[in-house]
Amino acid sequence: MKAEPRHAQVVFDLPLERVFDYQVPAGLALAPGQRVLAPFGRRKLQGVVVSCRDPERREGLKELERALDPSPVVSPALLEFTRWMADYYFCGWGEALALALPPQHNARQQVFIQAQDPARLQTALAGLSARQARSRAALQELARAGALALGDLQAQGLSPLLLKKGLQEGWLARQSRGPVAPAPGALAAPSVPPKLTAAQVTAGQALGDALAAGRGGAFLLHGITGSGKTEVYLHALEQALGSGGSAIVLVPEISLTPQTLARFNGRFPGQVAVLHSGLSAAERAKNWRLLAQGQRRVALGPRSALFAPLERLRLIVVDEESEPSYKQENPPRYHARDAALVRGRLEKAVVLLGSATPSFESWANAKAGKLRLLSLPGRVGACGLPSTQLLDLGRRQDAGNPLLPELEAQLETRLKAGEQSLIFLNRRGFAPALVCVKCGMALQCPHCSIALTFHKHNPSGGADERGWLLCHLCGHGQRPPRACPQPKCGGLLRVQGTGTQRLEEELARRFPRARIRRVDRDTAQARGFHQSLGEAMNAGQVDILVGTQMIAKGLDFPNLTLVGVINADASLNFPDFRAAERTFQLLVQVGGRAGRADKPGQVLVQTLRMDHPCLLAAAKQDFPAFFEEEHQERKALGYPPYGRLASLLLRSQDKAKAQAAAASLGEVLQAQALALKEPGLEVWGPAPAPLVEVKGWWRYRLLLKCPDHRGLHRLIKQGLAAWQAPHGVSLAVDVDPMSFL
Ligand code: ADP
Ligand code: ZN
Repeated sequence: MKAEPRHAQVVFDLPLERVFDYQVPAGLALAPGQRVLAPFGRRKLQGVVVSCRDPERREGLKELERALDPSPVVSPALLEFTRWMADYYFCGWGEALALALPPQHNARQQVFIQAQDPARLQTALAGLSARQARSRAALQELARAGALALGDLQAQGLSPLLLKKGLQEGWLARQSRGPVAPAPGALAAPSVPPKLTAAQVTAGQALGDALAAGRGGAFLLHGITGSGKTEVYLHALEQALGSGGSAIVLVPEISLTPQTLARFNGRFPGQVAVLHSGLSAAERAKNWRLLAQGQRRVALGPRSALFAPLERLRLIVVDEESEPSYKQENPPRYHARDAALVRGRLEKAVVLLGSATPSFESWANAKAGKLRLLSLPGRVGACGLPSTQLLDLGRRQDAGNPLLPELEAQLETRLKAGEQSLIFLNRRGFAPALVCVKCGMALQCPHCSIALTFHKHNPSGGADERGWLLCHLCGHGQRPPRACPQPKCGGLLRVQGTGTQRLEEELARRFPRARIRRVDRDTAQARGFHQSLGEAMNAGQVDILVGTQMIAKGLDFPNLTLVGVINADASLNFPDFRAAERTFQLLVQVGGRAGRADKPGQVLVQTLRMDHPCLLAAAKQDFPAFFEEEHQERKALGYPPYGRLASLLLRSQDKAKAQAAAASLGEVLQAQALALKEPGLEVWGPAPAPLVEVKGWWRYRLLLKCPDHRGLHRLIKQGLAAWQAPHGVSLAVDVDPMSFL
């Protein structure tokens, strides 16, 4: 018999590099991957056992309190994977491990109140007096929802007497679970695979061979929207499951729609479990358990589903691998696509990245042979690509009209033909700025270094004939002043530029008969919004859809034949070296909304930069051509994919402190970089971040660059060891950063 371990190493969900040694109490059997309660300082914290070695120093070790699981909840493979994450992204091992733990849900069962007898509930409602407004509202909501958490009802002001009465009279009932929302996918009809096209067969075979060999492998599947990529994923999944394995399918947050669920569930009924923060805690915990026990073998979800507790993992699919949402912007700042490649390598699983517009990183990896490239040319169906044309904003005659004549004429044509149009403008609000006509100053947020956006109404309710100024970063809102507040100016203020509200008004003025629907964060707050938009579009109740990023992806309306982009330059001019790459992705995505069924689609893109290679290539949906053009500059500057970056952001509420800290860290790193003698290793900055102030925090950035990521890691490690953030300053390390704001 193996001796019980006498010591254990434990990590906590804290930004600490360290692993802590403990003594294991006699009689307690422990193994790596088990959660324990451990004394930590003066507190007791939950931690995870990562190993059971005898440490060199054994004196004075504290004893673990108790085990929280009867057996490990994290597999050795996931322990190793999260260890890699901690090293690579400079986060705590415990922070990374937290992503792999069973979702927390209250051990205490939540109590729900159910509307047991709706008719009698209505009678009770009718009997309420005018003074019982809060109880009335609570009961009305209950009547609508069917069941609500007791705590929520109490918070809404349901009187305890009324609750007791309802329970006694039997029109309310207590129960231990909430309304049973039909999982949309669960109802999907089982579907059979279509006969694959020749290109799909070729891709499928390559994947099948790799799956059969069992040694893993990494692939990039490139094909425009509608080229049949998802069918290839399904085919590969079938093979992975057929050999007794399990699989993870990652999708961008925004495309985790009922249709996606239905498609995977329909092909693999009863095998798919969704892991998503939108689920209730209990639902998530249940799905996690089903996966851990092997009762479900496909984990489907956004980036966090990469940590699904699967044994015999054979396949990881990353759909739309270039989507920015795969990067987590708070600790641990991991990129799920890159991490998927590592998990795949550790567990010998095949990793399949798919995209219509691959990231430069993946495309370069494919060219270097690190990813095997699989291509699907053309769309599966008869309908071809939408035709795309650039329209020259430089020829605009009427500055008051956001639409060039060609776009306006096409809108008119679609209206007459009874077809739908989509107009894209990535600027919500009425106008991006309120500007003084005398001194030219735009009104700024008092807490952030950006201009306040002019809205026609206060979004949190309340009419105001003078409109409302809103900060899109921190939410600060104020009434517009009557005149320029600059000392000794007092000039007139005028709105400048066009946001979606203003565009909607302009469209309504020019097309009085058109039914227009605006979609942005101001209109799309309500739950079930996407479904109601879909219904209205499909029922032909909308002629023109106006909106931001929110309508650029995933929508599929057969009668939508025209897409207009108001200003492609806004995205091209973004202060980020990936601006052109993102613009290309955006144009391909939004353009892909047009002509998805039998009617041909048309895309019109307004721009001042008629000969920009990104726009020319996007018009042809020619990703390789765009890459060839754009990658030269990246190479010359040593930017990804030809070099690695890390961002070190220093923040403080005290501007001088933030600046001083950034300067001192910069000096330390400069000196160390010189000593390291790593070819091409550079320290840039410190420089004020483009958004130098956000919510009252001042932000300065150092950028580290190196052709080889190991050089970067060595430098960061040394830097962190030699330098400590002064009081009141925080440092955020971001390896392979995707955002530089
Ligand atoms: P993508 O994921 O690249 O956007 P899909 O896999 O969703 O492409 O395919 C686009 C459409 O074509 C879908 O409606 C899909 O059902 C259909 N489709 C895909 N492959 C085939 C095939 N081999 N035969 C018939 N229809 C197919
Ligand atoms: Zn602000």
